Amino acid sequence: MPSAQRREAPRGQAIAERAARVIPGGVNSSTRYIGEPYAFTGADGAYVTDADGRRYLDYHAAFGAILLGHNAPVVNDAVRAALGGLDLVGIGVTEPEVELAERIVDIIPSAESMIATMSGSEATAQAIRLARAATGRELIVKFQGGFHGWHDAVARNVISAPDKAYGRDPLSEGILAQAIDATLIAEFNDLGSVAELFDRHPERVAAVILEPIPHNVGALLPTQEFVEGLRALTRERGAVLIFDEVITGFRHALGGYQQVVGVTPDLTTFGKGMANGFPIGGVAGRRELMERFNGRTGDVLLAGTFNGNPVGCAAALATIGHLQANPDFYTRTHALGARMRDGLAAIAAELGIEATVAGFGGVFALYFAKAPVLGYRDLMRNNDAAYVAFHRGMTERGFLMLPMALKRNHVSGAHTEQEIDATLEAAREVLAGLRPT
Ligand code: PMP
Repeated sequence: MPSAQRREAPRGQAIAERAARVIPGGVNSSTRYIGEPYAFTGADGAYVTDADGRRYLDYHAAFGAILLGHNAPVVNDAVRAALGGLDLVGIGVTEPEVELAERIVDIIPSAESMIATMSGSEATAQAIRLARAATGRELIVKFQGGFHGWHDAVARNVISAPDKAYGRDPLSEGILAQAIDATLIAEFNDLGSVAELFDRHPERVAAVILEPIPHNVGALLPTQEFVEGLRALTRERGAVLIFDEVITGFRHALGGYQQVVGVTPDLTTFGKGMANGFPIGGVAGRRELMERFNGRTGDVLLAGTFNGNPVGCAAALATIGHLQANPDFYTRTHALGARMRDGLAAIAAELGIEATVAGFGGVFALYFAKAPVLGYRDLMRNNDAAYVAFHRGMTERGFLMLPMALKRNHVSGAHTEQEIDATLEAAREVLAGLRPT
């Protein structure tokens, strides 16, 4: 269980001050939280330890990169075994790369072949470039609220201010205007909004990219008709369907969320949990498309010094191997996720708090908005300040969650029923304090 929380954090603050002098903003990603707790020094199973020795029960899970639990022995042992052997050569191929691709082809419905990258962003960048090359078209359709990485083709319209939603909302300065304008924005769970974009830009849409469950805005569950409709529409209009399974892949089912819905995209992107915290990503898909990456006969550049590196491959093979050998991982995490969601929903109802609990498998999201929450439009009713206050209360009690409203949290393979119940107890206390008086 989390350790009793104290207020002072001399060591964490000292590290944060050093960081701010040499790292812009003191953190290495714009979306990392800057605030107490500032710095971490240890991680083990379901827990992380901050620089002042406090233990937090971790549902942040490195934005979902931690799947089996921190420092999972099965993964760390495989990485240790890979060290000291073949490190990096840079020509030819290594057996772990082949084994990883064979494994992916074996278990992912859409995968006939696979390329390895170093991150999820690289995977989506490669998938989009491939889709453009294969169709000879330029436009991409993404959904308001979907996040697919930091690069120019997709860095727009994730969590947008109400006056920017569905409009032009780049995530950054410095992106080519043409890149932003080549990405069109549709509404999740609204097939008509996608069809309209195809109608407005005939034969110009190269791909539709989606998180099959948009976890970057919590957990909007897709309707079956929506996913099937997207499959049919993209096929009919000659566009590539890309499932970005960077979060859902391996977390929700061995075959990804595509296995759950029974809809097979043309391309699938992976990252995060695939190697339980070690850096790797990948694109898998239809052979005919993927062959364009073939350095001899294809026409799409695939480059990356560290692609297929032995550490990432060993970690991914160990993570996937563990999931294959322990299918109860899914029954366990799904049951724990359901226990958390049911518990939170019951507490909110009992306290008369306007909230909707969403999620799938081990993922849970707490919206401070009345049901139904089906698409991004519904999320614009969310009381973000209430989530921020909830997050603060949970952090003070030793429970680490994503700090931004509309995000999700994760149960890993290392969490237990007792820990879920302790979390619910703390959540009851925090939510009671938020109750309108
Ligand atoms: N796709 C999705 C769905 C993601 O959630 C993320 C990261 N949050 C990415 C792509 C980008 O992955 P990475 O951070 O490894 O570049």
